[in-house]
Amino acid sequence: MIKKEKPDQAKEQSFLGPRISIWEHLTSRDQEELEKTAADYRAFLSSAKTERAVSRLIIKEVTKAGFTDLLTDKKLGSGGYLSHHGKLLGLFIPGQADPALGFNLVVAHGDAPRLDLKPKCIYEDEGYALIKSNLYGGIKKFQWLTRPLALWGFCVLKDGREVEIRFGEDSSDPVLTITDILPHLDRKVQRDKKLSDAFPAEKLNVLAASVPEGPIKDKFRVKKALLKILFNRWGIREDDLISSELELVPAGVAREVGFDSSLIGGYAQDDRLNVFCSVRALLGVSKPARPILLIIFDREEIGSYGSTGAETNFVQRLAASAFSASGQEPTWYKVQNSLALTQAISADVEAALDPIFKEVHDDLNAGRLGLGPCVTRYTGGAGKYGASEAGAEYMAYIRHIFEQGKVTWQSTLLGKQEEGGGGTVALSLAAYGMNIVDCGAPVLSMHSPFEVTSKADVWMMVRALSVFFQSQGHKGAKGR
Ligand code: MN
Ligand code: MN
Repeated sequence: MIKKEKPDQAKEQSFLGPRISIWEHLTSRDQEELEKTAADYRAFLSSAKTERAVSRLIIKEVTKAGFTDLLTDKKLGSGGYLSHHGKLLGLFIPGQADPALGFNLVVAHGDAPRLDLKPKCIYEDEGYALIKSNLYGGIKKFQWLTRPLALWGFCVLKDGREVEIRFGEDSSDPVLTITDILPHLDRKVQRDKKLSDAFPAEKLNVLAASVPEGPIKDKFRVKKALLKILFNRWGIREDDLISSELELVPAGVAREVGFDSSLIGGYAQDDRLNVFCSVRALLGVSKPARPILLIIFDREEIGSYGSTGAETNFVQRLAASAFSASGQEPTWYKVQNSLALTQAISADVEAALDPIFKEVHDDLNAGRLGLGPCVTRYTGGAGKYGASEAGAEYMAYIRHIFEQGKVTWQSTLLGKQEEGGGGTVALSLAAYGMNIVDCGAPVLSMHSPFEVTSKADVWMMVRALSVFFQSQGHKGAKGR
């Protein structure tokens, strides 16, 4: 039931009508479903903090739902999955229509900005063992100092054994941290500098141990003591770190935020919010009209390069596997043509207007928490450079299915022109000629260790993706 808008709200109308928050028209059943979705989402954010962990968790979940491995299992279950290097994951559900007519594809990314460990990273200075980190993705470096950090990852030892590391998350575990200078002494090293110079990446070194061990005449006794701990706990020797993927991430669980508990705060909601919502929507689909693909990419935060990123040919491989699983020969032409007829959503988060930094947003086109998924027609920098842009017909189609499916959504752009810019995986997929548009929940403090979203948007995002997955396909998808 939609409540009547108050007269003062009417003043704030944009050309798309009044801004009425999702919270204003929730039924008690909606409210229950929203809280359940938000609780599951928080658990997901807290339990999977690397792209590998995300991939593994989803495989477990879809296997439970009857999905089979598209590479190794002969018969297709309720759906299939294709995993690549344990970090890139594709899912497929057959539809009633021939895959040759194209797929309904959703793409999201499971990686997030963080600090990786350098291959040679442990050293000792002034009686401390320290660990050197390497930036991954766009972070504001100062946000990572003086806070509890956890170490997640994976190491392949010299003898080939694979070791999982998860340190700093259990309440009995210590955490790690990066120190910062006290304000009393920061004038020359930080305060008088430009922000971009005040926190050099090479100073993001983690405090790792402080107790020496062994004969006093020995050098680097704290480093040796740390190496002994690593060996005793995980069997890791110093040179094994060269064959590891270790990530420093904010320690602790995702939380409810606000006196009214309406918001969710936590790390890596860009883009695990959409990973969560897309998997949830996919598992709720039954007998879709068109075949469905979902891809969880890795390496989006560093430009989608690398063997598990969106710049690979993975979408072709997944589409080919889908043809095979549907009993069709995946010829080159069939695969390419089906991708050109595919309609896609690049499910990635959008910047929310921050009341404290309004000046970077174009008020009319800014995303706002609580108003539903943001549909962003184009990304890129000034003058649409490097942008993927959805065409008018496809935008009309998205509008139409969202309206039919009772999705509350907003039309948005990242920020004002010439303030900066950003892109998503949309352009890598658009290269195949498919229709694709960005759509995702708005986020405050994006790329920070504690990103903030609205429970209402998470809940509505699941609905938006369900509606999209089950949609019939637009005229353009039939080759117009
Ligand atoms: Mn993203
Ligand atoms: Mn991002």
